[in-house]
Amino acid sequence: MFRNPANRQLVRAINRSTILDAVRENGPVSKAEIARSTGLSQATVGAIVPSLIERGLVTEGDPTASGIGRPPTLLQLDRESYNVIGLKLMDDHIVGAVTDLEAETLGQSERPVSDLDPASVVETAAAVVDDLIQIAGLGRERVLGVGIGMAGVIDTNQGLCRHSPFLGWRDVPIGELIEARLQIPVRVDNDVNTLALAERWFGVGQKVDDFLLVTLGRGVGFSVVVGGNVYRGARGGAGEFGHTVVGDSDELCTCGNRGCLEASVGEPALLRRAQELCVARDLPSPATAAELYAAASQDPTLVDLLSHAGSNLGRGLANLINLFAPALVILSGEGVVGGEILLGAVETELDLHVHEALRGSYEFVVEPLRDEAWARGAASLILDAVFESPARSRSIPLWEWDAPP
Ligand SMILES: [Zn+2]
Repeated sequence: MFRNPANRQLVRAINRSTILDAVRENGPVSKAEIARSTGLSQATVGAIVPSLIERGLVTEGDPTASGIGRPPTLLQLDRESYNVIGLKLMDDHIVGAVTDLEAETLGQSERPVSDLDPASVVETAAAVVDDLIQIAGLGRERVLGVGIGMAGVIDTNQGLCRHSPFLGWRDVPIGELIEARLQIPVRVDNDVNTLALAERWFGVGQKVDDFLLVTLGRGVGFSVVVGGNVYRGARGGAGEFGHTVVGDSDELCTCGNRGCLEASVGEPALLRRAQELCVARDLPSPATAAELYAAASQDPTLVDLLSHAGSNLGRGLANLINLFAPALVILSGEGVVGGEILLGAVETELDLHVHEALRGSYEFVVEPLRDEAWARGAASLILDAVFESPARSRSIPLWEWDAPP
């Protein structure tokens, strides 16, 4: 069937990631069990395992003496054999995390960004990566890859930032630029997609094939996992949930349109509106979202503002649930911290607008997040490239397997 050598290579790559993921999920595990759980032949498993051991990704344990006959050798993922780095690029700083192969964070670093010129951002990113390599202590050659998450429309296959409103970038080949500077494989994706990958591999989305992730903060982020894969759309543009129109608002959005969800529930929009309301009544203005939430507990006008924003978000979310019928909905991001009034309004709208047939069919999880979680999410982009079958993720292999380790 696969006479073409390129196809044979692809089949080997698929088998390799399938076996590696089986070891990750079920280890310590015997070759016979791997063959059983993956449906691959014992001969195929036996042919591929040595290359994983040679790379140091998998270790052989001592044979366990149980049952009759020669005990099988058990294989285990050597989670500490390699490091993975994740960076979240923002317009004022870059935060990075270094993890092991199970996405356990080993250290973090953060550096300010003073100049948004791509060349300057690349230098700051490289400095954060150097910090993280130092912290982890395994050395540069043991970094499997650097995952980068950033807001905006990202073409993952090309490592291209098509449009980032926060950084003011259009068509910047950021993946290529950072990879050339670091000489380490680099993958880039929209930051909310990287969070969804982190949830799918290591968080509440494990073993959930269809789920939605919405983040609330400066903007409204969205990622949808369909059949186990992040849906990115043509040229990476899927997920502009924040720029859908769900309420009766006429507020000007950062995108230039009016009435977008983000112009109602995004943190800058909420704060600006709250400040106007407070100034008009000679009250002290909240300077941060935390101050706004604290002030709202004493002020019915601010309660109305937050409830209205929550209603818009809830209505939008109900539309998404009706469209995708997910098994899980995760509401996450900095903006959910302390936002009980807003979240209450979201849940009220879900009760009202989720289609009767879908009620009770999904789990709704609220997960506050901090910067480090975004960086860890970006690292999952690399872990996805390691463990996910290239047939499913269409991810580009991180290394030439036929080259010496
Ligand atoms: Zn907009």
